[in-house]
Amino acid sequence: MKIVIVGGVAGGASAAARARRLSESAEIVLFERGQYVSFANCGLPYYVGDEIKVRNKLIVTTPERLRERFKIDVQTGCNVVEIDRAAKQVVVQKVGSSEIIRQTYDKLVLSPGASPFLPPIPGINSPNIATLRTLDDVDRIRARVDAGIDHVVVVGAGFIGLEMVENLVHRNIKVTLVELADQVLPVMDREMTTPILAELKGKGVVVHLKTTVSEIKTVDDRIVTQLSTGETVDCGMVLFGIGVRPENKLAMDSGLATGPRGGIVTNSCMQTSDPDIYAVGDAVETEDYVLKSRTQVPLAGPANRQGRLAVDHIFGRNVRFRGTQATAIVKAFGTVVASTGASEKVLKRESKSYKKIYLHPANHAGYYPGAQGMSIKLLFDSSDGKILGAQISGGEGVDKRIDVLAMAIQAGMTVFDLEESELAYAPQFGSAKDPINMAGFIAAGVVRNDHPIVHVDQLTDMANACLIDVRTEDEHRLGSIPGSKLIPVDQLRDRLNEIPASEQVIVFCQVGQRGYIATRILKQRGYDVRNLSGGFKAYRLFHPAS
Ligand code: FAD
Repeated sequence: MKIVIVGGVAGGASAAARARRLSESAEIVLFERGQYVSFANCGLPYYVGDEIKVRNKLIVTTPERLRERFKIDVQTGCNVVEIDRAAKQVVVQKVGSSEIIRQTYDKLVLSPGASPFLPPIPGINSPNIATLRTLDDVDRIRARVDAGIDHVVVVGAGFIGLEMVENLVHRNIKVTLVELADQVLPVMDREMTTPILAELKGKGVVVHLKTTVSEIKTVDDRIVTQLSTGETVDCGMVLFGIGVRPENKLAMDSGLATGPRGGIVTNSCMQTSDPDIYAVGDAVETEDYVLKSRTQVPLAGPANRQGRLAVDHIFGRNVRFRGTQATAIVKAFGTVVASTGASEKVLKRESKSYKKIYLHPANHAGYYPGAQGMSIKLLFDSSDGKILGAQISGGEGVDKRIDVLAMAIQAGMTVFDLEESELAYAPQFGSAKDPINMAGFIAAGVVRNDHPIVHVDQLTDMANACLIDVRTEDEHRLGSIPGSKLIPVDQLRDRLNEIPASEQVIVFCQVGQRGYIATRILKQRGYDVRNLSGGFKAYRLFHPAS
């Protein structure tokens, strides 16, 4: 068996090493057009920020190591330019020379990744316009930063953009962030990004939303960046992180099927439309685990797992890629934001029926020093409570909860399973009722109709409802929802005469807990009452204090 692999980083290197572990006799040839294999793309922003100080730490393994330990024929500086499917050969050009070689294969694995997208605007090819994908890119960016530039415009507030913002600020560089959407992290639901936007602004980052860069002019060593708003920003470098496009030229030229957004179409065994050619990683289109629709998710986890799985299939194992649920996490300064599964905006777009809840638990017992709050949004099927997606914003403990919820989605669990989840607890790590249990309790109460709720984004349609703030007078004074009437929960039973029995009643507290108690009190007395999910904190996610 001769396996040829194109691309030697996340998916490609995983495939190569797995192939050797499964077969000592296989011939494994890996072509990589760069000089490095298996480097840590995900660590690149932290090298710019000097969090990772030694460049060599970014190199996970070397061609020599792959040759020595795995007997893989690694050929760097080799660009695969053509697939001759009829002859089962790839055509390879040595980088920087006209030398062409042909290599036969029994099975071919494509893991060419995705390339950063640059907009076709005037001046885009000027010097000091950067994207970040390779070690060469990071060397250029770091050299510029080390030279002492004072100001960088980062275009694109996605994961890589935000990581670069944080690391540039660490280097004492002024950062202007420009984003086309009306929010940062556009893959997430807007309200869940409010805390990270506030954090960026608090750290002095100038954020322009609903804005694009329309032109770039170089004046001496400076760059004048023209924004669509009419403003100009003078800086030393413009860094684009506005998304990636699958490297699909090889696949398209050889007639392999690609999807509407350019991803190489694969089946659940990672085979392309040619069963002897597999494709993995950022270049492919696979199935969305939750929605069962087609999707492209450029993340390291799926790339690595797909590389391994493709090779398992080549060696006859009965494997199937489950699809991807796009579990992702990012940190900017003290704020961590994470998501898994479907977002609300995608569920709406796909016309799926769903319910949602918000809650704001602490990462561990409040009495133990250092507890940090988080905001959780849980999306679930309105009929059976099956978990469809989750987003969390906070600090410590966000990573743990998103991973638990990611596993719950993979296991096809419901909100009732979250109620029953038994998770590790000591005061430093969690609570006897973990945030995951709390999410389950609240969501299960909603599905069982014990706990009628309403959401902040429904309030405008319910303007005639009687809105009651059940917090304390002090809390109310510090800020409340316009038009609300204060009746603290402990006075509610004595002040029922102030609540019109014939009207829709909405109660809210700070996070939803006292509101729930108030809802139970009023519901049992016959009121048509709903609790504002996530309380005033959820209100502030939608309507930040100015
Ligand atoms: P890559 O790892 O990009 O490898 C593709 C390789 O193929 C490249 O080295 C390329 O040179 C080579 N190649 C392409 N075409 C050819 C050809 N014709 N011939 C020969 N060689 C070729 N993901 C996360 O999940 N978490 C993170 O925190 C995260 N952070 C990231 C930060 C940055 C700055 C970047 C750039 C990416 C980050 N990612 C992260 C994404 C993650 O790195 C990718 O999803 C993953 O590397 C994709 O693996 P891949 O094998 O598909 O492509």
